[in-house]
Amino acid sequence: MKIGAAALFGLSAGRFIPSVEETPYFSSPLLWHGSRKFRRMAFTYDDCYLLNKMQALEKLLDEYPEFKVTFFPVGQKIPHLEEQDRGIWKRLVEKGHEIGYHTYDHVNLGVMSPAAALMDYDKWRDALNQALGMEYETRFVRPPYDIISHTLDVLCRERGLVAALFSIGGGGEPDVVARAIQKGRGGDIVQMHIRTQDYNSSVQVFPWLRENRWELATMSRLYDDYLRETAGMEGCENNPGISLTKTCAE
Ligand SMILES: [Zn+2]
Repeated sequence: MKIGAAALFGLSAGRFIPSVEETPYFSSPLLWHGSRKFRRMAFTYDDCYLLNKMQALEKLLDEYPEFKVTFFPVGQKIPHLEEQDRGIWKRLVEKGHEIGYHTYDHVNLGVMSPAAALMDYDKWRDALNQALGMEYETRFVRPPYDIISHTLDVLCRERGLVAALFSIGGGGEPDVVARAIQKGRGGDIVQMHIRTQDYNSSVQVFPWLRENRWELATMSRLYDDYLRETAGMEGCENNPGISLTKTCAE
């Protein structure tokens, strides 16, 4: 299940997005947003440093059992939070939320060698598997500092990961975030962090999202919609003019 990055870049727009010319080397799947056809957004929460905000968010999400989100914790916080709240990661997964890779120590993958990044990923994955007591199938990587690099590309290829960027980003004061969300489109990927401000923003926007019949879905759900849509539009053929390969979703 690979999609040429150029095809995705072609559909993207916005200030966070480097042009194809800036990242011609990137051949792995890279997602700025999902399918625009569905009334569905992916909320993602990076870093996961603060136990009390993780617990508060878990409680908030319990009030919206139809909302599923994705966490991108740094590896060092996985055992750390687990020690303080046994079963926290397992509970989140069992409730239908998703977990993705964000490096072990929040390093810029762009300054790591591919070999070092692969080791870092494996260390992160082992920490997660240990906490969950099972082999977890990680599908997404959110690169720290949102930096797209050659090393990220190699890592995605070698470990079968999809780079997950975002179309609504940065967080900020709850009012600012709420305005951005209210202007959101289907398929938007929303970047948040586990911090007070972004928790408050979530408290503010969740009721609005429910009232307005928005679905919050995991990155996997968004990506699967996207693959199905792309396969439906273009079949399994390569796009003319795009040298990167794409294979069918099925
Ligand atoms: Zn981060």
